[in-house]
Amino acid sequence: MTQPGLFDDQPFASLDAVRREALECRRCDLWKSGHRVVFGSGAERARLMVVGEGPSDADDRTGLPFSGPSGGLLDAWLGELALSRAEVWLTNVVKHRPTMTEHGRERNRPPRAKEAAACAVWLAEELRHVRPDLVLALGGSAGKALIGRDFKITQQRGVMLAGPGDVPVLATFHPAYLLRLEPPELQEAVRLVREDLALVRQTIAVP
Ligand code: SF4
Repeated sequence: MTQPGLFDDQPFASLDAVRREALECRRCDLWKSGHRVVFGSGAERARLMVVGEGPSDADDRTGLPFSGPSGGLLDAWLGELALSRAEVWLTNVVKHRPTMTEHGRERNRPPRAKEAAACAVWLAEELRHVRPDLVLALGGSAGKALIGRDFKITQQRGVMLAGPGDVPVLATFHPAYLLRLEPPELQEAVRLVREDLALVRQTIAVP
């Protein structure tokens, strides 16, 4: 498979060209477990790019990122920023759903480092075309993919960091994490996410 755009002298002409090539990707073994590539979605030129961990089971069915309950919470967060999905670019570190079997059931799992590394070419192309003013990294996997393997969500959440090409990256919790929390941890996590969203608002100058 030829992969123009993975080389600087053969750039992909558009995000759609990147997406078409990614649909055929078998750079890691996740294509065997995920049913489809869930490529990014939204505004092809956006002030804000949101990067999650990997497609959920709902995303794997619909082909769209953040289709399930996590997406519902993310929509609420975007609403607090007076933004809609159509105004931002939503994507994930890996484009096929990583799964594991637990008690006989298929469950989501975080992408392994080698899977994230294999899929980084598509994230890099998304960044290159969308050219966001800010990337909001949701959770530790997104932080590691954008900042580096030493990134720790417990220490670097809410801190403005430099990502690939010096694009500003702010990490916050993944919505799926909040959906698993109970009080009083939930209230504290909600408070911290609100602080992070306020910093997003200030950085991308949402009126
Ligand atoms: S997860 Fe990414 S690198 Fe792996 S096969 Fe899917 S698109 Fe390719």
